[in-house]
Amino acid sequence: MTKKITNFTPDPEQMALWPEISGNQINGLGEDAFRHPTYVYWTDPETIPHGSVQKWFYSKNTAPELIATREERAVEQVVPLSDLAENQVKQPAGEWTRTVKDKALNLGAEAVGIAHIKPKWMYEGKLLEFSHVIILAIRMTYDEMTAAPEPSAGAEVVRQYTRGMKTSKQLASWIREQGFDAKPEHGPLAGDLTLIPAALQAGMGELGKHGSIINRELGSCFRLAAVLTSLPLVEDNPDIFGADDFCASCRVCSNHCPPDAILPEKQRVRGQDKWYVDFDKCLPFFNETAGCGICVTVCPFSRPGVGHNLIAKLAKRTRVQKT
Ligand code: SF4
Ligand code: SF4
Repeated sequence: MTKKITNFTPDPEQMALWPEISGNQINGLGEDAFRHPTYVYWTDPETIPHGSVQKWFYSKNTAPELIATREERAVEQVVPLSDLAENQVKQPAGEWTRTVKDKALNLGAEAVGIAHIKPKWMYEGKLLEFSHVIILAIRMTYDEMTAAPEPSAGAEVVRQYTRGMKTSKQLASWIREQGFDAKPEHGPLAGDLTLIPAALQAGMGELGKHGSIINRELGSCFRLAAVLTSLPLVEDNPDIFGADDFCASCRVCSNHCPPDAILPEKQRVRGQDKWYVDFDKCLPFFNETAGCGICVTVCPFSRPGVGHNLIAKLAKRTRVQKT
């Protein structure tokens, strides 16, 4: 993965399935006004313009390790949640927060954060039924991901999504056993709300130029899962450590992206300026490589042992600028 793939031409069979509408248009690229996000991918394929392309993804990527990990996911998918207990266990929000975070970490999440749900995160047409979102970060094995864009890296993504599914379902079940409603959200399919803005608010890190979160411990080598709940909880604060500034002068991910999908400047998306990946350029490559994974792996913050040093240098630079 160290050398950039420069000769990518999308498979005509895939492109024949592409809809007229741009995925960037669905995402709201260039729109000045706020509107709720709408599903562009990873949902019921019968309900979205790119549904035929999403189905093609599964028909194309059939390496044995991918099939095996999808079978493991199917087993986890049908595990039922616990019934909602009739009586609520009473505790102050601070106590619930400590207990829930310990529980999430013990169940296997590598990091956990909490945010009050903001209505603007909800997908168009989805009802705001819960007060809080508990965000779970699920580490991907860096050594496995360095094989990206080979199918073995795609299998690692599926494996960790399944771990996120299992962790979020077990945490939601435990909360329901305490008498509070809870609903798990996990990949690969999108849930009721956009997880990235919720995770940024919950202190999971900063948005990187590659469109994924950079976490101070995990870099970008992780996946998100979540639990929506009405349990009384104390929310976390965003964790700003300098990644956004770093991205402004770093080009590692964009230099490695085969279809040149990572835009060099922030873009206006539904009224907000942020780093943005060109959906129409990324997706053809993503679809033909079991989910790609190059950009999140080459990001220097993802390399074990490097992220901490970078963050320490960024903190030192900030202190020097202030003096
Ligand atoms: S996932 Fe998309 S944006 Fe990232 S390197 Fe692959 S093609 Fe580029
Ligand atoms: S590779 Fe560089 S530009 Fe891309 S997300 Fe990571 S730090 Fe930012």
